[in-house]
Amino acid sequence: MKQILVTGGAGFIGSHLCARLLKEGNYVICLDNFFTGSVKNILHLQQNPFFEFVRHDITTPFSAEVEEIYNLACPASPVYYQEDPIQTVKTSVMGAINMLGLAKRKKAKILQASTSEVYGDPFVHPQTESYWGNVNPIGPRSCYDEGKRCAETLFMDYHRQNDVRIKIIRIFNTYGPYMSANDGRVVSNFIVQALQGNDITIYGDGTQTRSFQYVDDLIEGMVRMMQTDDDFTGPVNIGNPGEFSMLELAQKVIEMTGTKSKIVFRPLPGDDPKQRKPDITLAKEKLGGWEPKVNLEEGLRETIKYFKTIL
Ligand code: NAD
Ligand code: UDP
Repeated sequence: MKQILVTGGAGFIGSHLCARLLKEGNYVICLDNFFTGSVKNILHLQQNPFFEFVRHDITTPFSAEVEEIYNLACPASPVYYQEDPIQTVKTSVMGAINMLGLAKRKKAKILQASTSEVYGDPFVHPQTESYWGNVNPIGPRSCYDEGKRCAETLFMDYHRQNDVRIKIIRIFNTYGPYMSANDGRVVSNFIVQALQGNDITIYGDGTQTRSFQYVDDLIEGMVRMMQTDDDFTGPVNIGNPGEFSMLELAQKVIEMTGTKSKIVFRPLPGDDPKQRKPDITLAKEKLGGWEPKVNLEEGLRETIKYFKTIL
C-alpha cells in the first residue's frame, strides 16, 4: 500500500483521482482549502478507512509521510482564478515550492498538474510539448498561465538541482461529473443553462475552439504518467484531440438536453485563446499506448446525467 498525497483533492479532478487511487488499494491523503472544491465531492470517500482529509492551504508548508504527491491544488476556472489573482500566483508558485520541498525531504515522486494554458494563444497548431507558447505576462489570465509556467520551471529546477523525481502533465480542457454547477467553465455553464432553460452564453462569436477531454481519460493518463521510468519527466500533453468550436458545443448540448434555451452572444474575455488542440504523440509513446477513449457525445451524456442529479 502506497501513501499518496493529492493536493486539490476535493476539487473536480482531484476527487476522481482520490477515488481511483483508493480503488487501487492506496492510502490517500486529500489536502484542500475548499476555495473551489467542496466536501460534497469527497463525501462518498469519507467512509473509506484509507482516506484522510486535511484542510490546508498549500501556500504554507505541509508535512506527511508520503511516497507520491499529485499536485492539483489551484483554481482552474477563469472566473475563480481571476477573483484573487495574487492568491492564484501564490498557489502555483509557493505551493509548488512547498510541495517540491516535501518531495525532496521524503524522497517522494511528485506530479504537477500543468495546463495547456502554458501555450497561451498558440501559433503552433496542434500544440506539441516542444512549443514554448505565446503567453501575455501582464494580462487577466497571466496569474494562472504564468503561475503554471513558473511551477514547471520550479519542477525542472528541483529535478536538475536536487534530483527530485518529477512528472509534468499539461492537461487540456477536461470536463465531467463533480464539476461544480457554478464553476464558470464552458461545459458546465452550457449544460446548467440548458437544463435550467436559461440562455446559453457564447462569449465572442463562438468560432474559438477547444479540445474537450472526459475526466476518466485524464485520470488514466495521469496515473500512467506517475508510473513511468524516473528518467521521463515530461512535460507531456494529456488531452483529447477532438476539436470543437463553442458554437458546435452549444449546439450539441442543446440537441442532447432537448432544451428550448436560446443561444446569446456575450463579449469575449481578454486574452481568450482562439484555438486549442493537443498533439498526443508523446503521451501515446510514453504512456503505454494511452489515448482518450470517451468521445464528446459519450462524455456529455454522463455529465448531463450528473448535473440532472444535483440541480
Ligand atoms: P477545481 O477548481 O475543481 O479544483 C482545484 C482544487 O484545488 C479545489 O478543490 C480547490 O479548493 C483547491 N485549491 C485551490 N487553491 C488551493 C490552495 N492554495 N491550497 C489548497 N487547495 C487549493 O479544478 P480542477 O478542474 O479539478 O483542476 C485541478 C488541477 O488541474 C488544477 O491544478 C488545474 O490547474 C489543473 N488543470 C485542470 C484543467 C481542466 O480542464 N479541468 C485543465 C488544465 C489543468
Ligand atoms: N465560454 C463561453 N461561454 C461560457 C463560458 C466560456 O463561450 O459560458 C468560452 C470561453 O470564452 C472560451 C471557451 O469557452 O473561449 C472555453 O472556456 P473555459 O473557461 O471553459 O476554458 P479556457 O478558456 O480556460 O480554455
